[in-house]
Amino acid sequence: MTGDEVRTILEQRLRKVEGRISAACRRGGRPREAVRLVAVTKTVGPGVAAVLPELGVLDLGESRPQELWAKAAVRGPVRWHLVGHLQRNKVARTLPLVHLIHSADSLRLLAEVEAEAARQGRDVSVLLEVNASRESAKHGFPPEEVPGLAPHLNGLSRVRVEGLMGMAAFEEDPERCRPTFALLRELRDRLRERVAERHPLTELSMGMTNDFEVAVEEGATLVRLGTVLFEGLG
Ligand SMILES: *Cc1c(COP(=O)(O)O)cnc(C)c1O
Repeated sequence: MTGDEVRTILEQRLRKVEGRISAACRRGGRPREAVRLVAVTKTVGPGVAAVLPELGVLDLGESRPQELWAKAAVRGPVRWHLVGHLQRNKVARTLPLVHLIHSADSLRLLAEVEAEAARQGRDVSVLLEVNASRESAKHGFPPEEVPGLAPHLNGLSRVRVEGLMGMAAFEEDPERCRPTFALLRELRDRLRERVAERHPLTELSMGMTNDFEVAVEEGATLVRLGTVLFEGLG
């Protein structure tokens, strides 16, 4: 496939996705600007990833820190999102490159990010990952532990908690993901009441190819899309 063909396909797919996000916003009674698309580029190379900023998509995501390091060389005003598990020994190298860590999934990791952010003299924005579907293979805080995190969060001075991230279990009928997304929204709202103002807790990262429209209807502010954009382009 030539670069022009890739570009044309991506343009068409983005237009369709944009229409679907807009329609879901209308159904949910939300303004279109309330939702940001994060294009998860893990299945494509840096060449394909580099087309996205040219098409107006400035938020790019990777699930593996090493891939993010490699692709962060992509030129343009790109904001990189880490959406997968971050090992503590990869924190130092990741912090300077990342706009938002979606996957803060333990107190030990939060402590390491706080310490490293202080060493590097920077502030770091994170989302707390919640294992909302309770699948044992997934990372994240169990839902019932989220309200009790407030005192820990209030002790952080370099880390800003922007919101929560979660995934629904795969369902043939995405409508069945709705309770998981509603739970994430409720947990975010409850936690926001308990934490200091420096943690905005305004964001909800939820919704992937299979279920993003339901997630938007339920309040997603960041949708993380891979397959619907990149299938066949890897
Ligand atoms: C791969 C990945 C996505 C994108 O998933 P698709 O179903 O391909 O859209 C979103 N979030 C995370 C954490 C991922 O690892």
